[in-house]
Amino acid sequence: MRVLFAALCLLLSSAVACAAENQSAKTAGSGFYFDTYVTFTLYGADADLISDLHQLCAHYESLLSKTQVDSDVYRLNHAGGKPVTVDPETYALLQRAKEISELTDHAFSVSIAPLSELWNFKTHTIPGDAQRIAALALVDDERIVLGQEHTVSLAPGMQIDLGGIAKGYIADQAAALTRNRCTGAILNLGGNVYCTGSKPDGSAFKVGVENPLCPDPVTPAVISITDGTVVTSGTYERYFEENGIRYHHILDPQTGSPAQTDLVSATIVSTCSMDADAFATACIVLGSERSLELLTQLRLDAILITTEGDILLTPGFKTRVDYQPAS
Ligand code: ADP
Ligand code: MG
Repeated sequence: MRVLFAALCLLLSSAVACAAENQSAKTAGSGFYFDTYVTFTLYGADADLISDLHQLCAHYESLLSKTQVDSDVYRLNHAGGKPVTVDPETYALLQRAKEISELTDHAFSVSIAPLSELWNFKTHTIPGDAQRIAALALVDDERIVLGQEHTVSLAPGMQIDLGGIAKGYIADQAAALTRNRCTGAILNLGGNVYCTGSKPDGSAFKVGVENPLCPDPVTPAVISITDGTVVTSGTYERYFEENGIRYHHILDPQTGSPAQTDLVSATIVSTCSMDADAFATACIVLGSERSLELLTQLRLDAILITTEGDILLTPGFKTRVDYQPAS
């Protein structure tokens, strides 16, 4: 009897040890989607989660990519003004993009594509004035018409580019997939980081905000996250310099050129990565003053870094976000 009890105890303790080990077992994956290096770090994940995350990214790339033939975006951009039936998710994403465009005074405009096509930050292409002005006439999110039964129409010549919002949307979907299927996840989609759950010891994940002005990895804030997203847009991610001018990839829909801005980066902390992505992009166009006003009004929590090196926090960031300032 005593032997049986001892054996049972041993069995139980190894089962408990095994469960604890499973909870902390780390798995990782990486891939290249939406022109971005993507990484997944998971704790205590089920066996299929990594491959399901890859599948999810590939699925959304096939819907939202500008370059993949047959994606919803590609079909829309090549429809010559005719209505196109899109996936309900693409439709909902465009609906939110249009709302954000309105909220940001059109600083955020997914109809930026005719302009983003002209600028090439890899080959350092600066479009001529005439080309730029002709493309500007096609940029207007109000002319993206959302019709019945998930049909979308663009005026002839108009095109859309979801580069400023899609990664956020996909991060939200990927985060949803990880809940209940692991004990903790860090999903890094370029400038969009989403964490769910916690570290194996139960503590929150820590996400450092980059300071692009400091060559060393000096971070102005380390943010603790258990379920939420930290999204950064900046003028230092994709750019080239010519004649002392920095040409970066966030365009001002009013001028058709890289936004002349007093911000080098905008970081938003939220539970909605899609919104955070779009608003962070808009902040770069809006500049510090208008951004602070808008973010405060919308109760979005953000940390902005100016070209002068000033670090600006929204009121909500100071009160709602669990962070440690740089020492
Ligand atoms: P990244 O995708 O590099 O992390 P952002 O989220 O700030 O950075 O998005 C920048 C991308 O969004 C550009 O590469 C372009 O595709 C698109 N874009 C550029 N300017 C705008 C704008 N004013 N509104 C909406 N999208 C934009
Ligand atoms: Mg963005």
